[in-house]
Amino acid sequence: MKLILLGAPGAGKGTVAKLLTKIDGSVQISTGDILRGAVNAGTDLGKEAKSFMDAGDLVPDALIMNIMGERLLEDDCKNGFLLDGFPRIIPQAEALDVLLEKIGVELDFVVSLDVPRDVIYDRLTTRRTCENTKCQAIYNVKSMPSKVEGICDKCGSKTIQRADETVEAISKRLDTYDEMTAPLADYYKKKGQIFEVVATSSDTVVEAVKEKLAK
Ligand code: ADP
Ligand code: ZN
Repeated sequence: MKLILLGAPGAGKGTVAKLLTKIDGSVQISTGDILRGAVNAGTDLGKEAKSFMDAGDLVPDALIMNIMGERLLEDDCKNGFLLDGFPRIIPQAEALDVLLEKIGVELDFVVSLDVPRDVIYDRLTTRRTCENTKCQAIYNVKSMPSKVEGICDKCGSKTIQRADETVEAISKRLDTYDEMTAPLADYYKKKGQIFEVVATSSDTVVEAVKEKLAK
C-alpha cells in the first residue's frame, strides 16, 4: 500500500503506521524519526534540524525534500510505504506530487486521522520516553506507566519528557498544525484522494484502511 497518514501530533499516525506495515510489508517512513535519529547520531542534518525541532518549529523544506527524495528511491519502498509526518505543509505536498510523478509512483489514498483536541493534548503531555537513545521505549504516566516512576522498565535509564513535549512546545506544535498542516486535508480532498477516519482507536483505523484498500 502507498499511503499518506495525515493527522495532528498525537493523533496516532505512528501507531497506525506500525500496524499497517505488518499487513503487507510496506515500510513506515517517519520524517520525525529520521530527524531524531540524525540528531542523536550528531550528523550535519541533525545539527541543522535540532534547534527547529526543540522549539516545536518545522524543519526547512529543502532539508525535508532531500531526505524524502532519497528515501523513496530505496529498495524497500517498492512493496509500499506509509508516510508519517510528511508532507506537513502545502509546498511539501506539491513537491511530493512532482517527486512521485518523476519516479512513476501513484498513491492509493491519503488517510486523515480525526481525533478530538482534548484527547490529543492529554496523550502528548502524559507521554514519557526513555532517555537512552538505543532504547527509546515509550510510556504514558496515565495509561502505561513504568513500574518505577521515572525509570525505564527495559533498560533502567531515566524516562523523560521529549523537549518538544513540554506544555509550551505542544501548544506551539498544535497551533502550527492547525495553521500549516490542516489545510492539506482540503488540498487532497480537491484531488479526490482523501479518506477520513474517526481515529479514537488505532485498530478502527487499520480496519477501515484495509476495507478501503480492498474496494
Ligand atoms: P509530531 O508529528 O508528533 O509533531 P514528529 O515526530 O512527526 O512529531 O516530528 C517532530 C519534529 O520534527 C517536528 O516538530 C518538526 O520540527 C520536525 N519535522 C518532522 N517532519 C517534518 C516535516 N515533514 N517538515 C518539517 N519538519 C518536520
Ligand atoms: Zn530504556
